[in-house]
Amino acid sequence: MHYYDQHMHTYFSPDSVEKFENYLEQSDKALVTTEHLDFFSPYQNQADVIPDFPRYTAKIEQLNKEYDNRVRKGIEVGFTYPDKDKIQDYLSGKDFDLILLSVHHNGQYNFMNIGNEDVPLTEHLNDYYSRMLQAVQEFPNANVLAHFDYGLRGYTVTVDELRQVEKKLLKVFKTAVQNELAFELNTKSMYRHGNAHLYEYAIDLYLSAGGKMFTLGSDAHKAEDYEFHFKEAAEMLKRHGVEQLVTFQQQEPSFVPIPQEKVTTK
Ligand SMILES: [Zn+2]
Ligand SMILES: [Zn+2]
Repeated sequence: MHYYDQHMHTYFSPDSVEKFENYLEQSDKALVTTEHLDFFSPYQNQADVIPDFPRYTAKIEQLNKEYDNRVRKGIEVGFTYPDKDKIQDYLSGKDFDLILLSVHHNGQYNFMNIGNEDVPLTEHLNDYYSRMLQAVQEFPNANVLAHFDYGLRGYTVTVDELRQVEKKLLKVFKTAVQNELAFELNTKSMYRHGNAHLYEYAIDLYLSAGGKMFTLGSDAHKAEDYEFHFKEAAEMLKRHGVEQLVTFQQQEPSFVPIPQEKVTTK
């Protein structure tokens, strides 16, 4: 079994128009897409983002006939505490293979749209990782903690600055490990938003929390970003002594070797 990208979007997410086929044609491996689920507050005046599960399931059934049963079902849950019951209600009875846990917004603003001029970094770090701690505590049925640095994409953060909240981050990772969540190397964060150095630090912290499960996710919204910079991310993990990755089927993890070659290095 080969490792395959475990964070991708298609037209089942409102911020993507990509087709499954354009991903499928790039490899013979399994494919999973992780479509957005995000609820918003009345304050945000924005329509909830809810994948059309019957249509998604029907499309994947059709693709599985054409593409040798390669396609799996995934979802990226944007967690907020006020929405936790709505999230569980949506997931109830649905047979996802993979559930990503993300912290995208706080009911007022999207964390990617703010920077130091909006909320000073120290205040933001404390707030963001408090919310992430609440997310891993309150949503234990996720499989992967996605882009731990999502809320830092709009800032320029050094490892020393991130260390200000090391205690809190360690608690996030320990709780994630207890709940059997894998840690995602989000290659878009690392190599497009320039946060690879924060991953060097976080990998060791997650390992120190007893973590053993890692995934690579491109967060592709278009097919050309499939397995974006996977080779570099795999090399980084190897430097930290990690030899295996995990993939999820019916939410059960399986360990697979870290890809050695034949990976896209765009
Ligand atoms: Zn996300
Ligand atoms: Zn995503």
